[in-house]
Parts: sequence; C-alpha cells; structure tokens
Amino acid sequence: MALSMPHTNAMPTADLSPTLIDPSAALARMEAVRARIQQACVLAQRPADAVQLLAVSKTFPADSVLAMAAAGQHAFGENYIQEGVDKIVALADLRRSTPLVWHCIGPIQSNKTRLVAAHFDWVQSVDRLKIAERLSAQRPADLPPLQVCVQVNIDDGANKSGVSMTEATDLAMAIQSLPQLQLRGLMCIPDPVDTHAEQVAVFKRARALFDAWRAAGLPVDTLSMGMSGDLEAAVEAGATMVRVGTALFGAR
Ligand SMILES: *Cc1c(COP(=O)(O)O)cnc(C)c1O
Repeated sequence: MALSMPHTNAMPTADLSPTLIDPSAALARMEAVRARIQQACVLAQRPADAVQLLAVSKTFPADSVLAMAAAGQHAFGENYIQEGVDKIVALADLRRSTPLVWHCIGPIQSNKTRLVAAHFDWVQSVDRLKIAERLSAQRPADLPPLQVCVQVNIDDGANKSGVSMTEATDLAMAIQSLPQLQLRGLMCIPDPVDTHAEQVAVFKRARALFDAWRAAGLPVDTLSMGMSGDLEAAVEAGATMVRVGTALFGAR
C-alpha cells in the first residue's frame, strides 16, 4: 500500500476503514449504497423510490451519525438499546434542525422496554406480545405512537429472534389493537445462503406474508429486509426498506 497516495474525492468506491469517517467519505459511501439500491430497483422494474434506506449505526459513535446526516441520511438503526439511547440523547440538538428518525432493530428484553418506548421512533424487532404490550403501556402520552414492525423468523433458524411464520399474523393483529403502537409491517434477518437465487427465494417468503397481511386488510407499508451483503436479493424480492451498516460506516 502506498502511504503517500493522495486523498481524492473522485475515488469510485469508498474505502471501508473502521476509523471515524469524514464527511466526504460518508457522502461517497452513501452515494455508492444508494446507487446499489437504485440499480436493484431498475433490475426489478420497481420505482427508484420504492426502497428506503435505514443506516445501521450500531457500534459507531454519534459523530459518524452526524457525518451521515450531513450526507442527507435521516433514518438510523440501532441494535443495542443503551448505546442507541446514548446516541439519540447526544444528538438531540441536531434533531431540532434535522428530522432524524431512530429505529430499534435489536433484541429487546422486558427490562429495556421503557427506554425503547421513551426514545425511539420505530421498533422493528417486536417478536412477542408481552414486549408489544409493555411498549404500548410505556410510550409517553406526549409522543406519537411507536411505529412497529413484527420480526419474523422467516427461515425457521433455531435459536433465532423472531416470531414463527405461523404465529406472526396473530401477533400483528394483536399489535393493531394496542393504542400507543402503530403497526407498519414486517422485518426479517434470514441466514445467508449459498446463491443469490436461494436468497431471493427466502426473501420472497417474507414478501408473500407481507402481501397476505395487506390482502387481509392490515395497514402495513414496510417490509424491512436486506443488509450490506444481500440488499440486491431483498430488493428483487420486494423489500421496501433495507438496513445497511457495514457498507456505509465500515467494518465493525
Ligand atoms: C447489523 C445489522 C444490520 C446491518 O448489517 P450490515 O451487514 O452491517 O449491513 C441490519 N439489520 C440488523 C438487524 C442488524 O443487526
């Protein structure tokens, strides 16, 4: 590696070093990820605005979120509750000028629901009724309802978070009747498989369940699936939101 290589903004691909990202690197990575999503939409003959990007900032400092916000990204996802809340609080001032939206996408224990309900805007990782009930009961009355996705264990992986396919619809319907929650859709994290075609097939099962909910009259608009390594397959299968960490912020 040439140590004297000059810095240039014209690099076609952003480097993915785990160091703090500067604003120009943030913008380059953001544009590269947006180009991937757009290309996948073209191939799938879907409109370019059919897929939203959630930037997964877990393990990265608030300054990295700041850099991505300056690059025009407003929706951020966090896995670890306390870490996420610390960032939300640290960036509260920014929120007065920039409409940041925070999504909880990690496992939630009962003793963390109060923190989640008080600080996040969305929760994509609801996989049992008890957690949904606590979130609704603990959502402060002066805040809008929490926007909720049901996390579904779409590929039946053992020891995985997510409600089973067979129980998912009952959970979605129960969430609909909780006053401080607004059901938005379905989230899944399938295990990686060998080929693109297999990955698409797994994601299509999630899309079929999402379509069945819509056909049954559930007012859902969000199918959250696809990450740095498999977002093309997810977009092909009908994702409306992809959750991207590594390709934006670097290796963890
Ligand atoms: C970490 C994480 C992501 C992002 O994964 P990358 O491979 O880094 O893009 C997306 N969704 C969830 C639930 C995650 O935990």
